[in-house]
Amino acid sequence: MVSWGRAFKAAFVLLAFTIVWGIIGAIIIGIGTFALAPSAIAYEYYYGVPVPRGINWGAIVGIAIVWIIGILVIYLGSYASYFKILTELIVDETRKISQTIVTQPVATQATQVSSTPMPVCPKCGTPLTYVQQYQRWYCPTCREYQ
Ligand SMILES: [Zn+2]
Repeated sequence: MVSWGRAFKAAFVLLAFTIVWGIIGAIIIGIGTFALAPSAIAYEYYYGVPVPRGINWGAIVGIAIVWIIGILVIYLGSYASYFKILTELIVDETRKISQTIVTQPVATQATQVSSTPMPVCPKCGTPLTYVQQYQRWYCPTCREYQ
């Protein structure tokens, strides 16, 4: 389970990415519009006086394309960031879960081994060795079976 802290951290990262993509999109739209706007209206000059001749559709289409590109950058950039952050969060979480699954049995095994009382020799106190062949405990110091 993803903690609220991690979820909020991911949300803040997403917000930062969305702002960055918004700025990039706004710059594209702004520069494109300001560059193309003056040529949107075609002028004719009569004795040095500019007279509007008509709309320059090429420039209008250009502005529209710039706006579409800018909006796509903001939209796709934000969604791409969302999927990227979400995937990283899921991968992190899955890794954490698989780590707990792997480490848990190892930990219980270790505690079982250490908690099992080791039989010692009643004469000298040396830890005894279990001999599978005779199914008895052997003391290597006294060299006899207990
Ligand atoms: Zn012994």
